[in-house]
Amino acid sequence: MSLNEAWLARSQQAVWHPCTQMQHHAAADHPAHLPLVPIARGQGAWLYDFDGRRYLDGISSWWTNLFGHANPRINAALKAQLESLEHVMLAGFTHQPVVELSERLSALTGGALGHAFYASDGASATEIALKMSFHYWRNVGRPEKDQFLCLAGSYHGETVGALAVTDVDLFKAAYAPLVRAATVIPSPDFRLAEAGESPADVARRAAAALAAHLERHGERIAALIVEPLVQGASGMAMYDPEYLRLARVLCDRHEVHLICDEIAVGCGRTGTFFAHEQAGIRPDLMCLSKGISGGYLPLSIVLSSDSLYQAFLDDSVARAFLHSHSYTGNPLACRAALATLDIFEQDDIVAVNRQKSAKIAAALAPLAEHPQVRHLRQRGMIAAFDVATDDPWFSRRFYRAALEREALIRPIGNTVYLMPPYIVDDDEIAHLVNSATSAMTSALS
Ligand SMILES: *Cc1c(COP(=O)(O)O)cnc(C)c1O
Repeated sequence: MSLNEAWLARSQQAVWHPCTQMQHHAAADHPAHLPLVPIARGQGAWLYDFDGRRYLDGISSWWTNLFGHANPRINAALKAQLESLEHVMLAGFTHQPVVELSERLSALTGGALGHAFYASDGASATEIALKMSFHYWRNVGRPEKDQFLCLAGSYHGETVGALAVTDVDLFKAAYAPLVRAATVIPSPDFRLAEAGESPADVARRAAAALAAHLERHGERIAALIVEPLVQGASGMAMYDPEYLRLARVLCDRHEVHLICDEIAVGCGRTGTFFAHEQAGIRPDLMCLSKGISGGYLPLSIVLSSDSLYQAFLDDSVARAFLHSHSYTGNPLACRAALATLDIFEQDDIVAVNRQKSAKIAAALAPLAEHPQVRHLRQRGMIAAFDVATDDPWFSRRFYRAALEREALIRPIGNTVYLMPPYIVDDDEIAHLVNSATSAMTSALS
């Protein structure tokens, strides 16, 4: 038995893997087979198994990794932090990394979102933002504003509270009886364009539906939550910034909070540091996670506007924001985030990414001619296309074929996407695109 096989066997026995029908790990000859890949170490954009095989991490380990595995600068910052403070509770205590990170994130929003609340995972950040909005309206004497709006195809996490604003059937259907579901309104996804419509037209049509809903029900609505510009988990649905501009105006008009979930699209992913910047707006609340710690440690943050924060100040403890996790504001995670922001500044990453995304676009361009490729699209460092096929196991066949070609590319349904770490070089971009093209040919044959 190879080292790989030994770890596979032990993992299948003892570990319950996420987002996985565990039986598909075992069934090696089934079309749905999902191979389990043991990883011994990572270096840059590459992951290595125990037997010396390697995989280019084409999806940034589920959209978390920005500057490569075992990044020397983040490693050094974490080692230094380990020597001084690994953790202290954040209720009643504070520390250097959490203060500095909060200040720097506020500055990155031009001071518009001046208060940072901490948690560990994206789904917790979603729940915190929803609770903050709801509690704000109670605190200002509008307790009837207790409903939320989300977009068709939205994904904001999978805990029971976050599922309320997640509209992906696969994750929601089984748990629907547990969930207090939000109202789902039309998505501005530009693939929904009718003949002659531009992406901005689709955005305006979706905003008109939002306007109509707010006209009738705005009095009851606390917040609208959106993934700015790219709805990731439902298949990299992309939309025009016009939607965010109009949503901002409508939310102001009807006194509804706008929550931007930048967990996947923040931190330079879409071409600006925050995706909402492309619409020239600011949200009332913003959720961050995934890339903010460079892909190193679980960290999530909800940034809030000053006016929202002020409504919680009172003698009464019941008016305070009541939410806490044991590892809130963990110093190591905050230190990883500070090292990540240092790299952004020192290496001018937003500008560098603009060049890299142009290279990815050029490498992918020939695929637009493929007879089964639809909607080849890109926003910054996210590129995607849909594959026209009736094969229910296309995504699994593609995934296995890509692994055989030394690439980790995990389609969502029939949508193939590339979302590599920002450190990919020209050769690695070519490797990813070649692997994707050849894996597609293999999966379709
Ligand atoms: C991944 C993701 C989440 C959930 O984050 P977890 O850390 O996986 O709980 C929420 N919103 C968006 C947009 C995401 O992509």
